[in-house]
Amino acid sequence: MAQQPGARGLVFNEPLIFEHGRKGRKGCDVPKSEFPETDPAATMPPALLRGPVEGLAEVSEPEAVRHFTRLSQWNYGVDSNFYPLGSCTMKYNPKVNEAAARLEGFAGLHPLQDASTAQGALRVMYDLERMLCEVVGMDAASLQPAAGAQGEFAGLLLIRAYHTEKGNPRKKVIIPDSGHGTNPASASLCDYATVTLPSGPDGMIDLALLEKEMDGETAALMLTNPNTLGMFEKNIKKVCDIVHAKGGLVYGDGANLNAVLGKARFGDMGIDVCHMNLHKTFSTPHGGGGPGSGPVLAKKFLEPYMPAPRVTLRDGRYDLDFNRPKSIGALNAFWGNFGVYLRAYAYVLTMGGAGLREASETAVLNANYILAKLRGAYHVPYEGTCMHECVLSDKFQQEHHVSTLDIAKGLIDRGFHPPTIYFPLIVKGAMMIEPTETESVETMDAFIAAMKEIAEVAKSDPESLAAAPVTAKVKRLDETQAARQPDLRYRR
Ligand SMILES: *Cc1c(COP(=O)(O)O)cnc(C)c1O
Repeated sequence: MAQQPGARGLVFNEPLIFEHGRKGRKGCDVPKSEFPETDPAATMPPALLRGPVEGLAEVSEPEAVRHFTRLSQWNYGVDSNFYPLGSCTMKYNPKVNEAAARLEGFAGLHPLQDASTAQGALRVMYDLERMLCEVVGMDAASLQPAAGAQGEFAGLLLIRAYHTEKGNPRKKVIIPDSGHGTNPASASLCDYATVTLPSGPDGMIDLALLEKEMDGETAALMLTNPNTLGMFEKNIKKVCDIVHAKGGLVYGDGANLNAVLGKARFGDMGIDVCHMNLHKTFSTPHGGGGPGSGPVLAKKFLEPYMPAPRVTLRDGRYDLDFNRPKSIGALNAFWGNFGVYLRAYAYVLTMGGAGLREASETAVLNANYILAKLRGAYHVPYEGTCMHECVLSDKFQQEHHVSTLDIAKGLIDRGFHPPTIYFPLIVKGAMMIEPTETESVETMDAFIAAMKEIAEVAKSDPESLAAAPVTAKVKRLDETQAARQPDLRYRR
């Protein structure tokens, strides 16, 4: 097999920062002040004063720099190798978008600056809203939500506000079991009971079952499309008709938009409100908690409820409109994660409409390439052409008592980040692989070879996989103990 990154070599051990340095060592010397020294503590009420802190790190500048640089090198990211984490769209993010986000004129802005002095920034927001509306076929967008889950929350608040104004907020939200786990959480936060809809044998929504569940107390159906099986919901117009017939609205979870750019639009399918994840589809590095952006988009009739303020354009001037009496209110302290908007804006402009469509076509092609090459070596629970990700299971390997977890750990020994595992929940021992459009055929072939080798080893030497990973810094963890008794305390 081709040489993998992640082979040993100069990988440093690194103790805690507290174990470096010694008492009195520091990173820099500040010149002695020419003003008389005062003790700030003497001017404050004693109740607000902190006592002495024992054990703070005291290190020189090179010790600090090396410490954090070494730690950063233990990190595995999309800039170091293939990151096939399904449902996460870990695509490579072009560096030119980073340059746009760092432009001094944008990065140096203050959120409380008067709108007249921030026309360029407001224009970026206004134009980006229009572009994103075009992508999903909606009429209005708000960039405020700072994550996909917050976009869902915002969308459901819009739905609640709409029903409330019509006289009854309604009681429940229907969510197929192939939806994303954040969906029921968002519905609960908006005070809706959730009803889980089991998928049919083909992984699609069961129309007869939906018809039975749908009633006048159902506020909405939340639909992830492509769903978490990586499949496109076939009967989506019928689904929308069934929900609309009883006065409900349809929410589209568009976090998987990378599969359908320039191909299919939520608005055209009859969906009323949706969100998308700029940090997945539109080129912002993610993982590790943010920052992200999950714009909420809706049809015209929901616009009055959109989060405030709204960016407006009148007579060539951009402004922020706070006077929105029906609005669900602000979702963020200021205007959301602006750096993410700049990356998305630069990404859309550099790709163009045709480029975005090609990205989705390549993402879907890549996922089907991996599915086709691994079929046979691994069990495919739902057959058919997949969208941007494919789902396999450990059914064949279970005969040798090798599980999805063992396969994932075996991949680490072969230099690859594992795919998403044990998700979607409706597939036992699931492995969900999303290559994205940015991977070359050589990289995918190397990953496929590693997966095939693991399938062979599962038959010939299953015990070795139970011990994996053996080449990583941290060996197999006792995950139950780590979850139940996390030991987070630093002891000297
Ligand atoms: C990632 C994802 C979400 C949640 O997005 P966050 O930004 O992580 O909150 C919701 N739905 C689907 C289908 C996703 O893949």
